[in-house]
Amino acid sequence: MRIVIKIGTSTLAHTTGQLNIRRVELLCKVMSDLKNAGHEVILVSSGAIGMGVGKLSLKSRPTDMATKQAAAAVGQCELMYTYDKLFSEYHHTVAQILLTGADLRDEERRENFHRTLFRLLELGALPIINENDTVATEEISIGDNDSLGAIVAVNANADLLILLSDIDGLYDADPHTHPDAKLIPVVNAVDEEVLALAGGAGSSLGTGGMATKLHAAQLAVEAGIDMVIANGADPEVLYRITDGERVGTRFVGKGCAV
Ligand code: GLU
Repeated sequence: MRIVIKIGTSTLAHTTGQLNIRRVELLCKVMSDLKNAGHEVILVSSGAIGMGVGKLSLKSRPTDMATKQAAAAVGQCELMYTYDKLFSEYHHTVAQILLTGADLRDEERRENFHRTLFRLLELGALPIINENDTVATEEISIGDNDSLGAIVAVNANADLLILLSDIDGLYDADPHTHPDAKLIPVVNAVDEEVLALAGGAGSSLGTGGMATKLHAAQLAVEAGIDMVIANGADPEVLYRITDGERVGTRFVGKGCAV
């Protein structure tokens, strides 16, 4: 299977903005193993701004454009350094791709992206994709990595998109305020009723919340790609998903893979 795995800042970093070393080490180990088992893995990783916040010792996620972009520039280096180091331990080669919405809307640039992506997969490398936050102003950005994950999955003709987050999946009510909220295991159609479950707020360091995840689900399902939202707290959840176990919430695309 060709799998796009999107990892959110809340999964990669502690609330301090510093790397969650144990978590990231395990994630890289499991993703390496999935590659060893024959899957093609594309990683969409957030965390540039979050890690920049940690490295620059900023008190919180910046709101002004210049500091955000500066934090992303610092954090993206740290992020790739970490991935390169950890994946190298398992003899996998990583490749960085940074995109903006404008790159994907422009036919020529999109073709360049495709060519590089598919060649990297042929070469057995592990593409790691993020938004190019240092140049992406609001008008040209995709804005959140859940949507970027779905756009990458569609462009890569993926079989499966997995969004790893700090939440177990989609609930029938906000689990933070409704302790009796129930997890919805399968969603067959991302309709008005489902979209109404989105709620607001994500974490303090990342961008996404349930709304961006449901938007991603719409894009994936429409292209026939299954999407799973699962909790990244235990990276081994990736084994269970690729083994076809019921984990988190699965949005069923028309060309179901597992
Ligand atoms: N591109 C952002 C970053 O790396 C993340 C966007 C998001 O959290 O959705 O910090």
